Amino acid sequence: APKAIPLSGPIGGTPEQEDYLEKVVKEFTITPNYLEKICARFMSEMTKGLDNEGQTLAMIPSYVEGRLTGQEKGHFLALDLGGTNLRVVLVTLEGDGKYKTKSSKSRVTDELKTGPMRDLCDYIADCVDEFLIEEGLSNAETTLFLGYTFSFPVLQSRINRGLLKSWTKGFNCSGAVGKDPVMLLQDSLLRKNVPIKVAALVNDAVGTLLSNAYQKPETSVGLILGTGSNGGYIEKMERIGKWKGGETTSDEMIINMEFGAFDNERVVLPVTQYDNKVDRLSINPHCQIYEKMISGMYLGEVTRNVLLDMIDRELLFGPDNGNYDLKAFSTELSGHYAFETSHMSTIEADGSPDLTRTKEVLDLNLNLRDINTVESKIIKRVCEVVGTRAAHLAGAAIAGIVRHCEISPEEGTDVGIDGSLYEFYPSFEDRIYEALAILLPDHKDVRKTVRLGLAKDGSGVGAALTACVAAQMESRKKG
Ligand code: BGC
Ligand code: MG
Repeated sequence: APKAIPLSGPIGGTPEQEDYLEKVVKEFTITPNYLEKICARFMSEMTKGLDNEGQTLAMIPSYVEGRLTGQEKGHFLALDLGGTNLRVVLVTLEGDGKYKTKSSKSRVTDELKTGPMRDLCDYIADCVDEFLIEEGLSNAETTLFLGYTFSFPVLQSRINRGLLKSWTKGFNCSGAVGKDPVMLLQDSLLRKNVPIKVAALVNDAVGTLLSNAYQKPETSVGLILGTGSNGGYIEKMERIGKWKGGETTSDEMIINMEFGAFDNERVVLPVTQYDNKVDRLSINPHCQIYEKMISGMYLGEVTRNVLLDMIDRELLFGPDNGNYDLKAFSTELSGHYAFETSHMSTIEADGSPDLTRTKEVLDLNLNLRDINTVESKIIKRVCEVVGTRAAHLAGAAIAGIVRHCEISPEEGTDVGIDGSLYEFYPSFEDRIYEALAILLPDHKDVRKTVRLGLAKDGSGVGAALTACVAAQMESRKKG
């Protein structure tokens, strides 16, 4: 099993290689004191965001009021946009925390991600239409209700209304920022005669909280640790100082934190030269700095930047390793985003003494043939430090939320997490707990009191649940 804490100490390289690695380990290691400093800042930013509009931590009220009991029932459609795939899901809530789903998946090409918003919405409408035909729902007598998980920062003004603040995660469609994603989609559906009403708009972190709560009613936090990262939690209305939305039907509301933007000012985040390079060459420079240090879209790229720097300094694939021609083979590694976070997962999971799997991954995906064991160990160590820093930073956010909400060890909470990083990256959870143990000293047995768990398909099921909550809020208002 992979070790939870990255090892320091020699890996059998040249003195120059060892020195460089030691420097990298140091740059990426966050000491307990420093982690506390990050967590404290995270908390003060939360308060600022709750009290004022336009803060770095946007703390967006989701208009999802109240909690779920797990007894909700009904058929709902859900749409999930914002990760790697677009998914259409038919969710049947059965009560007792049980549900069934049927779904279709389609890829969102880079062309669609960066073209006109109208094209993207038309494509989504076509996917929904096809799904309805497949499921024999296209001639339904009544209009179906759909929950739309739109996983970008949206300033909501109602449960199915909001304005897109900015794009993230490599999306950059024209004609969408400052507009309402629901109206744009509804327009495409109407034009194409697809009989659907978009009843709820939900962020994936909020959806994940809801879907986890459906099965575990003691859930008060939802997180996304995947392509991007974010958190949602249940807040008391009286603590949302900036609220101007009028009467609510509950004294609690889920907040979409948009914590990927935490510390964009770079006051506390330990940003390295490798992170700066990721940021500078990204589609959204100076934005989502925290997200770029934590999430799946970027970790491979941070790692790649370290490896490239080592190659440039002749510390990797150089003459000293008797492997000089590898430089010629490393063209793949020069490609932007060529080193994927999924490669890091495989490499970190490789427990073999001569790192056979690691060599295989590098050969197959990056055309790096005959890498020697020392080089493989270097690459693995770099993955470990980048992966560990990510998990510790994610832990600082979770601890910040737990402390802000004053969740005592006696009370405890479930935390639903969706996303490939959490699901597949070895040790990610263990490393989050390392951070939690440091930052939540009152929680003596933190695994029992802050119960992290996979909310598989949280975004999809969450959207359906939000459509359901929208219906409940509607009926509560009616009386
Ligand atoms: C978006 C969030 C989203 C997160 C996870 C971020 O880039 O700003 O809205 O929840 O990714 O998908
Ligand atoms: Mg998702």
